[in-house]
Amino acid sequence: MSAKCAVVTGITGQDGAYLAALLLEKGYRVVGVVRRSSHSGVATHRLDWLGITDDVELVDGDLLDLGGLCRTFQEVKPDEVYNLAAQSFVKTSWHQPTLTAQVTGIGAVNVLEAVRLQAPEARFYQASSSEMYGLIQEPEQSESTPFYPRSPYAAAKLFGHWMTVNYRESFGLFASSGILFNHESPLRGLEFVTRKVTDGAARIKLGQAKTLAMGNMDAKRDWGHAKDYVRAMWLMLQQEVADDYVVATGRTSTVREMVRIAFEHVGLNPEDHIVIDPQFMRPAEVDVLLGDPTKARNALGWEATITMEEMIREMVDADLKRRRDAR
Ligand code: NAP
Ligand code: GDP
Repeated sequence: MSAKCAVVTGITGQDGAYLAALLLEKGYRVVGVVRRSSHSGVATHRLDWLGITDDVELVDGDLLDLGGLCRTFQEVKPDEVYNLAAQSFVKTSWHQPTLTAQVTGIGAVNVLEAVRLQAPEARFYQASSSEMYGLIQEPEQSESTPFYPRSPYAAAKLFGHWMTVNYRESFGLFASSGILFNHESPLRGLEFVTRKVTDGAARIKLGQAKTLAMGNMDAKRDWGHAKDYVRAMWLMLQQEVADDYVVATGRTSTVREMVRIAFEHVGLNPEDHIVIDPQFMRPAEVDVLLGDPTKARNALGWEATITMEEMIREMVDADLKRRRDAR
């Protein structure tokens, strides 16, 4: 039997890189859809970091271009399609609401349409988000908790989520939506709070900075590790029937607590270095997220294996090494 083939949109992002590594380990042919940029080629630094750039096939494509997606699926004939591409930063979504709606919302429909038209037997995964719970309606959020999005990003993701459900129910596609809570790693974008903090702690430790400007230190998130979470994505597409799953650790911590873990790991007192800067506050905040992963545990046999503390320390160590190597 020939190897299974997976198409991954967003392969240059954090999750795309870890998912590609997992699929390669499992013997898949991995095809990544990447958008062209004017500077030399594709941003492969995350794939480089994992040492897998030469093992994946990269094809040009943009979530906004349905024709190109159709051509790719026609040529590649994927068994599985993972739609991870998005404008994924909540803060930016208030500055670019239309772009976010197009890429994060309509883009998901373009991928669903391309699957329906060119690869209807393929299994489809949509990267949905805990941000859809926004102003939370239940203290612990599960698959049955009502949504209340609080940003253009969350509203766009909610559209992608419901379109995934609709394509499953209307056209019989194997389309699953993973409602993933925040997940991080040394490959997380520098604009997200965990990586900003672990890189900031590393810079201060090495004498390259004295302070770190932060926003809302009281926000609470259910933080897990991306490596664990891409395993859940794959498991969702190996089930008998398509469905939606919350993926979370079931534990929530404040930004303040996460900062303390990062700074204490390198022997620093955060109170000596953190300054609050209103520019990092948001027009509407998601105060607290806490996921209930019972369904994923029971149906997928999935569990988070890496604690927030272990992850933050791994990220600080990686940032220290990067900053030292760059000197
Ligand atoms: P990420 O690092 O920001 O990666 C986003 C990816 O999307 C990048 O590869 C980016 O390509 C690509 N992309 C952006 N616009 C595109 C377009 N118009 N056409 C094609 N590709 C485009 O995000 P991530 O953290 O890996 O997250 C993966 C997915 O899960 C995203 O959809 C995100 O919203 C969702 N999610 C993430 C989390 C989390 O905590 N990480 C939680 C829930 C859901 P470039 O390299 O060219 O920019
Ligand atoms: P999000 O949950 O997808 O918005 O992930 P982020 O990592 O961007 O933000 C997580 C939480 O950290 C949010 O409640 C932010 O308001 C809070 N936060 C506090 N200070 C900062 C900061 O300086 N940068 C970012 N990105 N978030 C911050």
